[in-house]
Amino acid sequence: MPTTCVVGILWGDEGKGKVIDYLAAETDFVVRYGGGHNAGHTLVLPTGKLVLHLIPSGIVHPHTVNVIGNGVVVDPVHLVGEVDKLRQRGLDVRLGHNLLVSERAHVIVEAHRRQDLWAEAQRGDGKIGTTGRGIGPAYADRCGRVGLRMGDLLRPERLRDACAAFAAHKNAWFGPAGLAPVDAAALAAELLAAGETLRAGIVDAGAALRRAQADGKRILLEGAQGCLLDLEQGTYPYVTSSHASTGGAFPGTGLPPHAMRVVGIAKAYATRVGAGPFPTELKDALGDTLRIAGNEFGSTTGRPRRCGWFDTVAVRYSGAVSGASELVLTNLDVLKGFGPLRLCVAYRLPDGTRTTEFPAFDLEGAVPEFVDLPGFTEDVRAVRRFEDLPANARAYVQAIEQRTGIPVRTISVGPERQQVILR
Ligand code: GDP
Repeated sequence: MPTTCVVGILWGDEGKGKVIDYLAAETDFVVRYGGGHNAGHTLVLPTGKLVLHLIPSGIVHPHTVNVIGNGVVVDPVHLVGEVDKLRQRGLDVRLGHNLLVSERAHVIVEAHRRQDLWAEAQRGDGKIGTTGRGIGPAYADRCGRVGLRMGDLLRPERLRDACAAFAAHKNAWFGPAGLAPVDAAALAAELLAAGETLRAGIVDAGAALRRAQADGKRILLEGAQGCLLDLEQGTYPYVTSSHASTGGAFPGTGLPPHAMRVVGIAKAYATRVGAGPFPTELKDALGDTLRIAGNEFGSTTGRPRRCGWFDTVAVRYSGAVSGASELVLTNLDVLKGFGPLRLCVAYRLPDGTRTTEFPAFDLEGAVPEFVDLPGFTEDVRAVRRFEDLPANARAYVQAIEQRTGIPVRTISVGPERQQVILR
């Protein structure tokens, strides 16, 4: 099946960057279908570490065409900066050749960032934990049909009118809310300048992808965040504003909903950034030790990630929602010395019911039920064959497969490209 979708199974940061980098070597197109520059995909290359926020991870492979699909919200000023940064790192980024941006993708502007921070401040104790990059407000404007699109940046007349309408829409309430007004002329000037720089890359990306699919090209769809941050299927309202699960892949690219291979990425334990329910969270010293062992600090914001045990209930749910037919289990190396290893197999809900289904409500009060497995103390980073893993590590992986019903086809045992076990 030439089209593959890689999706994070929990709340993001599963190590998708490494897996996509790995798969991109055998791919013609790598496509982002949702989210914005709140994502942070870390690649560890022979030349050092590289964090990508908006540009698909295939950019490090010279033969790959990278597409920012229409489902992504694009901050054009950030994109210009990210292109520059990659070029400074020696990467050959050519707009219109190996980097395409959908003309339908919506634009994030500075007013969205201010609105984002303002909205988060209004939430008081109920903060969602947004990265404050303007993603949510840009998506809201898309739904409210007042948004700007990347194609507008190439059409000065149209852009000026759109900026005037946008400013009028915002300024009707920005002032009363204590926010500085939007200057339509300055906004149009900034966007036109960014549009000039990006001009060659702003295209009908959906058409390009459909042509590629018809020609039998290999297409890799790169999910951002994770299934449990999906606007509809995730832990609402502690979610992102887009369809982070596989469901976003078709509307977010313009590809038709044909069958595709779905690869779910899950860490060998669980992490979450920002607020929201997390039943298997370790709030004690063990959680701190896991955070340090796994270097669990956000690649975009540097925020410490909350850490906890592997949750088979959540993974089974996300696997079902996303259609994942296989799992890549990352960070197995991090669990060295963490015995016993606990797997959550059910929740006890606040009303006393025991469930093995992932609930839409009451997850905050859910108490996890665990099975314990013996841990392993060996360093597994040099292991390249499943049979060579310590018996306890193998048993742990097999228990995950059995409890989630999803085969683990690949195991990542370190951040570097070659640190993988294929089964
Ligand atoms: P993404 O948002 O899902 O792409 O996740 P990130 O790339 O932000 O975070 C994953 C982090 O884990 C990065 O620092 C990776 O280099 C690192 N990483 C990926 N796979 C492994 C692994 O198997 N073991 C270890 N120790 N680190 C890994």
